[in-house]
Amino acid sequence: MSPTRTVTLIRGDGIGPEVADAVVGILEAARAPLSFEEVVVGREAEKRDGDPLPPAALAAIRKTGLALKGPVGTPIGKGFQSVNVRLRQSFELYANLRPVKNVPSVRSRFEGVDLVVVRENTEDLYSGLEHIVVPGVVESLKIITEVASTRIARFAFEYARANGRRRVTAIHKANIMKLSDGLFLDCFRKVAEDYPDVGADDRIVDAACMKLVMEPETFDVLLLENLYGDIVSDLAAGLVGGLGVVPGANLGANAAIFEAVHGTAPDIAGQDKANPMALLMSAILMLRHLDLVELANQIDAALLATLRAGIKTPDIGGVAGTKEFARAVAERIQQA
Ligand code: NAD
Repeated sequence: MSPTRTVTLIRGDGIGPEVADAVVGILEAARAPLSFEEVVVGREAEKRDGDPLPPAALAAIRKTGLALKGPVGTPIGKGFQSVNVRLRQSFELYANLRPVKNVPSVRSRFEGVDLVVVRENTEDLYSGLEHIVVPGVVESLKIITEVASTRIARFAFEYARANGRRRVTAIHKANIMKLSDGLFLDCFRKVAEDYPDVGADDRIVDAACMKLVMEPETFDVLLLENLYGDIVSDLAAGLVGGLGVVPGANLGANAAIFEAVHGTAPDIAGQDKANPMALLMSAILMLRHLDLVELANQIDAALLATLRAGIKTPDIGGVAGTKEFARAVAERIQQA
């Protein structure tokens, strides 16, 4: 038996509590060696403590180094800073990982997609360094450093090696941004020399996007700076049916936060219509991260069997409610 790991649970806003409860129920049915310690983050925390990400929540994650997180709402253009951005900054979660794969029984435009997007999470145009030079002229600074570029390249190759992946493709615009993207690419090439067992190549971002929507099956691990990674990771999710069917993780040296990439879906919150698949797949990713591979495979198989049996939530063409879907997955785990 593996020792029990404590996971900080953030149920989140909107549909967050519904999908989080569904996933925790499935993990309990699978007897996962996990204990959950819930912290309140988001709207409720803001109402109660005046801060959507209170110090107690940060302290809890600092202690466990591991969190499973439902979506948290962010008002556009006003109010508090995104909780997601604050979490990434607080724990220096420098790598965003998004495996993208066709899910049987989920309709999509492409077949045979099985790729992984690795996005640098800490710098680039997301450093928030913008200023008005003179009225009508704004400058936004793109920061690329050797340290962060080398760190994320090493992460991508280590991930590729550990997960039996064949190739890492760096995606850039070094033909135009010769210094910044040029540095990112140089770091990638240097790191690649340490991994002769993993293939390495690179593509210019516009050409890569065209190839992604024509022959997505030809990609394996993709490595991108923050902005390109943000865009390409959603594009990649669209190839297999959208944000509702892909998992996500934000990883750093001292903490790992696993979360669905969709939002709080206020239009369907509280109606038992939310699809818990993305958060469940993120939890499966967390189990793999914890080396609980057999358990991860077992839950994955139960999820696929549920979908094959035609039990799906309305967003992917079914009629099952959140609770019914979660129950069906749990039953298949117990029957296995
Ligand atoms: P959204 O992802 O919440 O919703 C977009 C559409 O997809 C809606 O029609 C919704 O019903 C549907 N949808 C999303 N997830 C679903 C699921 N699991 N099952 C079934 N249908 C689902 O995007 P939005 O409306 O742009 O954002 C709403 C809020 O969520 C905003 O406050 C935003 O800031 C927040 N958000 C949070 C995160 C996060 O915490 N990681 C990510 C994205 C958006």
